[in-house]
Amino acid sequence: MTSYPMSPVMGQMMSQPLLVSTIIDYAARHFGSSEIVSRRVEGDMHRYTYRDLNQRARRMANVLTGLGVQMGDRVATLAWNGYRHMELYYAVSGSGAVLHTMNPRLHPEQIAYIANHAEDQYLFFDLTFLPLIEAVAAHCKTVKAFVLMSDREHMPKETRIANLLCYEDLVASSSDDYSWPQFDENSAASLCYTSGTTGNPKGALYSHRSTVLHAYGSALPNALNVSAADTVLPVVPMFHVNAWGLPYSVLLSGAKMVYPGAALDGKSLYELFEAEGVTFSAGVPTVWLGLINHALQNDLKFSTFRRTVIGGSACPPAMMDTLIDKLDVQVIHAWGMTEMSPLGTTGTLQGKHKLLPKEEQRKILQKQGHAVFGVDMKIVDDDGKELAWDGKTYGHLLVKGPWIISSYFRNEGGDVLQDGWFPTGDVATIDADGYMQITDRSKDVIKSGGEWIGTIDLENIAMAHPAVLQAACIGVAHPKWDERPLLLVVKRPGQEVGREELLKFFEGKIAKFWMPDDVAFIDALPMGATGKIQKNKLREQFRDHKLPTA
Ligand code: ADP
Repeated sequence: MTSYPMSPVMGQMMSQPLLVSTIIDYAARHFGSSEIVSRRVEGDMHRYTYRDLNQRARRMANVLTGLGVQMGDRVATLAWNGYRHMELYYAVSGSGAVLHTMNPRLHPEQIAYIANHAEDQYLFFDLTFLPLIEAVAAHCKTVKAFVLMSDREHMPKETRIANLLCYEDLVASSSDDYSWPQFDENSAASLCYTSGTTGNPKGALYSHRSTVLHAYGSALPNALNVSAADTVLPVVPMFHVNAWGLPYSVLLSGAKMVYPGAALDGKSLYELFEAEGVTFSAGVPTVWLGLINHALQNDLKFSTFRRTVIGGSACPPAMMDTLIDKLDVQVIHAWGMTEMSPLGTTGTLQGKHKLLPKEEQRKILQKQGHAVFGVDMKIVDDDGKELAWDGKTYGHLLVKGPWIISSYFRNEGGDVLQDGWFPTGDVATIDADGYMQITDRSKDVIKSGGEWIGTIDLENIAMAHPAVLQAACIGVAHPKWDERPLLLVVKRPGQEVGREELLKFFEGKIAKFWMPDDVAFIDALPMGATGKIQKNKLREQFRDHKLPTA
């Protein structure tokens, strides 16, 4: 850790470490009756208050102590968004241990790899994942016991899992008499692994300080603007970068929280939004596809839902238009990454934009947005020279700030910073007002005759065609130009469109040399564990695709 010079005159303010437990203490004391509603994997709905959460989290902290969990030990979860998962967020980190949220959509081998790499001591899991745990338990070498996050009634009669405990039995058998310990705010609080599209997943180890600062920063009006007047439903899973920090920022805002459990299809989500009066939500573009289709096909409107944050991959402008113009839901386009806790930028308008025509405003909102206080960013060329903020020049995007990693867990990958900045692996432009726009991930960008072609733009245009449900653009080898774009398209059910018509649709919208050389229609795009298109799989699948221009 860097040490800084001290002034001979020090401030005379209380020194209170920024600990995750301060959030739950504040929430329970000052918003004790705010509700947390969860759709349980057992099939029913569960409701209680912040006060109850605090009480059960303290019981769970006592359980952890009883199980011998020490400060710094890793305790893993494989669970959906729900109240028991939230209890663990606070019990584990609050007691000084490290919450390791695992993504159940990963391959079982990857789950075992991550559990071993993290040296998880205990693994808590939802009923849905019992078969998965039965398959991986024997391979998780450091796990002393597995805890099924349910009651006695739902415990399996027979199981191959050697040490299986029942969550509700543990909670019932312990006392809520527990004081959150005080310790250095730089201690580790939670651990998330990147989805590792290339190589093994690497861990981002968040500290208490970074978690609390990220919770403050992300709740700001220019960012997610969460307040006690909101009812928030995070669709983004608590195993995907801590649901973008919402289990912390919602609690410190006093808002009502609604957890959807495992039911993430359009119909289930719509019903929950309406039943609980959800005002604000968050998720990756693929989940909105299901919800939007359900609403449009059944001619439904939202009664209370007015704002959502969309990020994780680029929000297609056509999706933003539908949400704003047809469903009256404001979209906050956000960008970030696991290594950034995750929030980096959010797209919201400034006072001076209010008088702009709607189309101009929409162009601003379509960008990935403005840096949130706590994050600085810059774009550089291949030699590390900073590039202009003119909205046109693109370069490698670098970031720095107190909730951005300084290295990966156990120093995987060695030194990652460049002169104190973290290289994001994204290519972007930044305009004069500080709005950043991602052109591509550097490994996805298409290099054609020494020029770069950004695939996000091409995909966004394709997805604006009424017959296109999803689109992905990849580079395919070309004898003259090195690489040329191939557009892969999933058609909307019952809709028709051909290669020529689709290519014509691009005319006038892009530079001529950006025009895809070919279009291939496929049934589905391969999706990764965090709902992103797996372009590496597509590149593999279409490696030998013969372009008509080759
Ligand atoms: P992983 O690769 O493990 O899924 P993350 O979930 O942290 O990692 O993804 C981070 C990456 O996702 C960013 O570097 C960026 O490429 C992409 N991304 C995130 N939000 C956006 C967005 N709004 N627009 C475009 N790309 C995005």
